[in-house]
Amino acid sequence: MTTALESFRSRLEKHRDALSALMSKTTDEQKVTEEGFVPPSTHGQDDEAERVVGLEMGIMTQENLKHAHLEIIEALSRIEDGSYGICVDCGERIAEKRLSFAPASRYCISCQIKHEGM
Ligand SMILES: [Zn+2]
Repeated sequence: MTTALESFRSRLEKHRDALSALMSKTTDEQKVTEEGFVPPSTHGQDDEAERVVGLEMGIMTQENLKHAHLEIIEALSRIEDGSYGICVDCGERIAEKRLSFAPASRYCISCQIKHEGM
C-alpha cells in the first residue's frame, strides 16, 4: 500500500463522512433545483473542505449528494480490491495528478471526456 493511496483513502473517507452528514441533514429538504447545481470548482488548491462548504451552501441537490456519495463508496471499495486508479473503461492507469483533483475518478481523462460527450 503506497503512501499516495493512503492519502487518497483518507481524503475519500473524510469526504464520504461529510456527505453522509449532509445527506442526513438535508433529507426531505430539496433545497435547490437542478439549475442551481454548480460543479465543484477545481481552481486553485484542491481542498475537500472547500467543496464541502459548497455543499453546505446548498448548491447540490439531494440527488447529486447521493451520486457523489456512491462514487466515493465505489472508489473506496476499489482501493480495497486493488483496482483503484485504473480506468474502469480502458484499463489504463489514471494519472495521479487527476486523482489528486478528483480522488473518486473511475475513468482516465480521455474516457471521462468521452462519457461526458464533450
Ligand atoms: Zn480510460
